[in-house]
Amino acid sequence: MINYLYQEQNWQSQLSDLITDPAELLDLLQLSQDEFLEGAKLAAEQFKLRVPRAFVGKMKAGDPFDPLLLQVLPHHLETEDHEGFVTDPLGEEQANQQPGVLHKYKSRFLLTLTGACAVHCRYCFRRHFPYQENLPKNEDWLNIQQYIQSQPDINEVILSGGDPLTLNNRKIKLWIERLESLPQLKFLRIHSRVPIVIPNRVDEELISILKNSRLRVILVVHSNHALELDDFTCHQLSKLVKAQITVLNQAVLLKGVNDSADVLVKLSSRLFDAGVMPYYLHVLDKVKGAHHFDRLPQDIDEIYKEVLANLPGYLVPKLVREIAGEKNKTPLFGVSTF
Ligand SMILES: *Cc1c(COP(=O)(O)O)cnc(C)c1O
Ligand code: SF4
Repeated sequence: MINYLYQEQNWQSQLSDLITDPAELLDLLQLSQDEFLEGAKLAAEQFKLRVPRAFVGKMKAGDPFDPLLLQVLPHHLETEDHEGFVTDPLGEEQANQQPGVLHKYKSRFLLTLTGACAVHCRYCFRRHFPYQENLPKNEDWLNIQQYIQSQPDINEVILSGGDPLTLNNRKIKLWIERLESLPQLKFLRIHSRVPIVIPNRVDEELISILKNSRLRVILVVHSNHALELDDFTCHQLSKLVKAQITVLNQAVLLKGVNDSADVLVKLSSRLFDAGVMPYYLHVLDKVKGAHHFDRLPQDIDEIYKEVLANLPGYLVPKLVREIAGEKNKTPLFGVSTF
């Protein structure tokens, strides 16, 4: 492990000091530039490298197959075209009615406040999505409010991204207050990977904002491997849990990263150590550039069966796929449903 003492740096300075140069990342991890740099640069032209030092600190130096590294290091395989792997696999461009708004699911409404993420995950289905063109400004709040009011079924707003926790506490608080003013809303969900990649983001002020909201807050973090959950990260997550915030995890099944029952079982156990409940295990969205993370349905089925056999039911994440145009995530049981 590389020790950066990231625990002592505030999250904003960590966020403004991300690693974006593949050569620096390879250097830090003592990996061969000759072998990896050219491919990394090529792939980074399509989707930039972006990773916090705190996350790199959880990687093992000298290991090109480190499961955390594989999620963030651009790879030349991303530049290959593969049949069925497209730029907008979920058809979100169509569903996008107005700035920042995505309403596909009956009671839940997705609000994108920023296109920025603290980390660029190579398999992300949003790697080609033009968020920058479609973010709500303060003036857009009136329209968003009217939209929510015109849809009485909506009782939950999901802040998604980009990553909403890259915003500062003042902005988070402002948007939460706006949402709180709508009586029909009961739940506020936040989808974020920041607590995993910059655990210091979970600061006292954020905890207090979430804890004191009228809305019931559910934070869904995104961790794919137990090695992402070192003691400090778990400590930060458990602070949220102690503040009565429901913390769930979603993971993506990724070839080379967590495509074995053993790794997935360890992930669930480690999450539970921190008081976090496994929620979803997504199969990969078929996004252009992510083909090398894909596994065959029958392999996934086998892995998942073994996970089921080795964990208590409450620690088994639901295996799901997102299908364009469907009204909810589709659970997968057995190969036939793939
Ligand atoms: C996944 C998703 C949700 C939330 O779905 P849950 O099954 O409630 O977690 C809401 N809106 C969109 C567009 C989504 O992709
Ligand atoms: S943090 Fe989430 S939205 Fe951002 S790149 Fe990773 S998977 Fe995609």
